Amino acid sequence: MRTVSAVATPLRRLSPVAIRQGSRRCFSSSQNLQATWGFIGLGRMGYPMAKNLRAKIPAEDTLFVQDVNTAATKKFLEEHPQGVRIAANVREVAEKAETIVTSLPEPQHVKGVYKEMLEPATLLTDGFITKERLFIDCSTIDPMTSGAVAEIAHSTKQGKFIDAPMSGGVVGAQAGTLTFMIGAPHEAVEQATKVLSLMGRRVLHLGEQGAGLKGKLANNYLLALNNVATAEAMSMGIKWGLDPKALAGMINTATGKCWPSEVNNPVPGVIEGSPASRGYEGGFGLALANKDLKLALKAAAEANVKLAMGDAARAVYDAAEKDENCKGRDFSVIYRYLGGKE
Ligand code: NAD
Repeated sequence: MRTVSAVATPLRRLSPVAIRQGSRRCFSSSQNLQATWGFIGLGRMGYPMAKNLRAKIPAEDTLFVQDVNTAATKKFLEEHPQGVRIAANVREVAEKAETIVTSLPEPQHVKGVYKEMLEPATLLTDGFITKERLFIDCSTIDPMTSGAVAEIAHSTKQGKFIDAPMSGGVVGAQAGTLTFMIGAPHEAVEQATKVLSLMGRRVLHLGEQGAGLKGKLANNYLLALNNVATAEAMSMGIKWGLDPKALAGMINTATGKCWPSEVNNPVPGVIEGSPASRGYEGGFGLALANKDLKLALKAAAEANVKLAMGDAARAVYDAAEKDENCKGRDFSVIYRYLGGKE
């Protein structure tokens, strides 16, 4: 793995003029030298990411935005009257922007959006911009779908497609402190890192296209399981009569320590300000955790990876999602689903 944030940091430290020159050198081929950007999917993550992107690119550059939710694009334009255009559809984004970032919910949305952007395969010949595009998909999807989309982009020579799933949540998207795990050919890493560093703090290059998603899914599989195991361990200790804070404190100096035990402990009152301590509001949604688990299981099955715990964990998350007392809350609510003492 290569951490390439060092490449990106200087870009942020450059003066506005230097950024402008850098951006033009790297991203522009249009006659007036202004660079064009695209952002598709102005959702919980995408909206603040696009905001950061717009704030950090040169004022004279244009950002084309698109979302099926027209209220989101309208609001974005109202908030950024300068240098933003709402594209009529995603094909227009691909036609007019050199660097295109997507942040979409599920594999089928990514597939649909890229099909529309890449077909017909005339992006470089239709008269707008003749330069190969850089497509950066930040959605969490399965590596197979991502690979199929990359294949269309690469085989038609319309652009480079890289997967760049992210972590850091909505708070990180707003603060511009996201971590991106990228799968990209070496020649695309530097450029992608510069772009992603406008929206995040760290870019981890894990390998060729698809590697970012594989890393993200492996991590989130572990997280989903650790979350259930922590809920179970805390529940058993508390029901045996142990003090919740003392138990968590001990685990966190011992071998059971993990992110759910230390940072996102599922027992209310153990960690001040945690989702559990505020009724499981906010945080990493149960549905998103279950979505990532589902994707990890699918990708593991495709690669014939034997998993002992995956299906059991999936059943727990599925059932918790249907429970009215858990639905829509932080994934640490699994503790409540398991009947943990609150
Ligand atoms: P979201 O559902 O809030 O946003 C997705 C946006 O895409 C919506 O605005 C939707 O209208 C738009 N969209 C859907 N289909 C479209 C289409 N065909 N054309 C244009 N726009 C379309 O999702 P989110 O929470 O912002 O997450 C985006 C991605 O990032 C997901 O893959 C998610 O798993 C991943 N992710 C989310 C978080 C998080 O905390 N929310 C954290 C890390 C990763």
